[in-house]
Amino acid sequence: MSSSIDSDPGKLFPEQQKTGELEEFVLQGEELIKTGKYSEAKRHFKNPERAKKFGIEVEPDPREFIIPKDLEPHKIPRVANEVACNSWHMRQEKRIILSDISCPGQVLPEKLNHEIVLIYLEEWLHCLQDQKGGVPLAGYNDSEIDVAAYMIKHRIPLTPTFLNRYGRYHILTPHRPDIASTGPDIKSGTPATVTRSNGKVENDWHIERYDPTTGNVLVTKGNLTKRYPPEKLYQIARP
Ligand SMILES: [Zn+2]
Repeated sequence: MSSSIDSDPGKLFPEQQKTGELEEFVLQGEELIKTGKYSEAKRHFKNPERAKKFGIEVEPDPREFIIPKDLEPHKIPRVANEVACNSWHMRQEKRIILSDISCPGQVLPEKLNHEIVLIYLEEWLHCLQDQKGGVPLAGYNDSEIDVAAYMIKHRIPLTPTFLNRYGRYHILTPHRPDIASTGPDIKSGTPATVTRSNGKVENDWHIERYDPTTGNVLVTKGNLTKRYPPEKLYQIARP
């Protein structure tokens, strides 16, 4: 144990200390997302006791959305957008409302939990933007674009559904052709993050090429080659 005056949190200004703690809380949640622990990440961001420390009230949306058992995968984006529409960061009230989905008798599909937890991270990032006096986290004045740019910088595995909200995909990709593209416009040699079938997220893959006949993307890591459908793969910018 070392006792340095500089590292004594009691010596910091309270607001600076609060910002630092909030940043730390957000980073902890990011780590859970990056390791594919979506349910744990959801609990982390929904914890009212942790939120209270930053002067934030975090509450679930009082309405309960129920999905049928064995929801067809193509319906996941619609359900995710519903959660996004009903989740809020209320600046004035210092409140975060987090919507969720339940599925009686069945756990939620991991793909849906992934979508939901990106929305929770988004609301907390809006809170962080606010705590920093509205200073962008990743240099974009539009707060919705800024949160996505921040997540890309932090190598959070994103989904096409998340990127398609608020026109993020179109705003972020023309200037940054190396990021967040899934589909035929994919660029060879771009670093990629892939989600394995067991939910594990792996970095350090590279895009080889898009195969239009199967709709899959070929990715390589060392001498390994694998095919992934675009939704299992996210191109990530180098910081
Ligand atoms: Zn937002």
